[in-house]
Amino acid sequence: MSKRIVSKFGGSSVADAAQFAKIKEIVNADDRRRIIVVSAPGKRNSKETKLTDLLYSTHDLALKGLDFSAPWVLIRERYLEIVRDLKLKSNVGSDLDHLEHQLRTTPQDITVDYLVSRGEFLCARIMAEYLGATFVDAYPLIQFDAMHRVFPESYRAMATEFSGPGLYVVPGFYGSDSHGKVKTFTRGGSDISGAILAHGCDAGVYENWTDVSGLLMADPRIVSNPKPMESVSYQEIRELAYSGASVLHDEAIAPCREKNIPINIRNTNRPLDQGTLIGPPSSHAGQVITGVAGRKGFAMLHIEKSMMNKERGFGRKIMGILEENGLSFEHSPTGIDTMSIVVEQKSFENVEEIVMDSIVRQMSPDSVKVQKDLALIATVGHGMNHHIGVAATLFGALANAHVNVRIIDQGASEINIIVGVDQADCDKAIQSIYAAFEK
Ligand code: ASP
Repeated sequence: MSKRIVSKFGGSSVADAAQFAKIKEIVNADDRRRIIVVSAPGKRNSKETKLTDLLYSTHDLALKGLDFSAPWVLIRERYLEIVRDLKLKSNVGSDLDHLEHQLRTTPQDITVDYLVSRGEFLCARIMAEYLGATFVDAYPLIQFDAMHRVFPESYRAMATEFSGPGLYVVPGFYGSDSHGKVKTFTRGGSDISGAILAHGCDAGVYENWTDVSGLLMADPRIVSNPKPMESVSYQEIRELAYSGASVLHDEAIAPCREKNIPINIRNTNRPLDQGTLIGPPSSHAGQVITGVAGRKGFAMLHIEKSMMNKERGFGRKIMGILEENGLSFEHSPTGIDTMSIVVEQKSFENVEEIVMDSIVRQMSPDSVKVQKDLALIATVGHGMNHHIGVAATLFGALANAHVNVRIIDQGASEINIIVGVDQADCDKAIQSIYAAFEK
């Protein structure tokens, strides 16, 4: 038997009965699609609120002893409408009544994670009935620690649970913590659930069905008509996601990468489009860059001290100060007597005074300055590695666009070149780099 496929459908793919029908067709079109993971229903139009957000509001109001009927009516109506339109027998109505009763009488006994997880729980129950599949709850099956690391016995349990030839539906977004309580991942976390299940079931492919036909080489709000990416490596996608490109939750990569399971981003509304395949590096024949992405909101600390290069432990001390203040550093270009450190501006501003004070007291620099409102732009691609002149093209493009480069960083892996520019120049920089490589 060829390996099974884990197919995860996001919020927009389960927004109403018509979307459920599309999923049924997709599932029926390939009998390797055996493990179906669903999010909670998302928005049907831009004015609507996601069900998960309505559940968060409900919990907040209930805990404060306030009337939560406004969001609750919307939640209830949405599920009942889907069940009605699909002509199912489902008893979600009584589940919702029971929950409402608990929220009115003992709200303190319902954790926020438990309540919001009901968004995917009920959706998966309806989907299982509609597909004639077996419902398997993610609680307590998917058990993970505070860093979202899944316990090995939990992976073993998944392999056993899904060992049969059946069709299964599993709710995304949550599982169990190490104390045996329902625990959600961070927002958008159904992507992580799907990846974990793909790992646990040794899937051949992890399909992530959404409302776009894969990833684009640049943000279409910045670059007009960017080319789609047919394939991208796990490492490249991490670099691009970190720098602002988002379609898939960044924690969804590792579980698949550990077993070399390809991730296929697909469009529920255009199921014939092949989407983007994320996997081990491929040959990328002829392609220089895979994508370009940018992220704003960085600050740079610039420290100067003569004979810095001779002073042992200078770097360690400064990193220690950042660590003590809960800051992680993003990049650190150095000169002989200078060291620059790029940090996330928002977190830095919360502790700016103490950090500056500690640097002055502990390191006695000649000067320390802060430059704010910077953007980092990552130009990413394994292809850069065997092409000469990539940096020349990139910096030539920035010069022609009159963008002043403030930071340059290229790791030895040669998978990316990162430049820091003034935030105001971010879009212009991305446009010029994209145009230079995609002529
Ligand atoms: N429903 C959750 C959210 O809105 C999880 C997900 O959709 O992946 O964040």
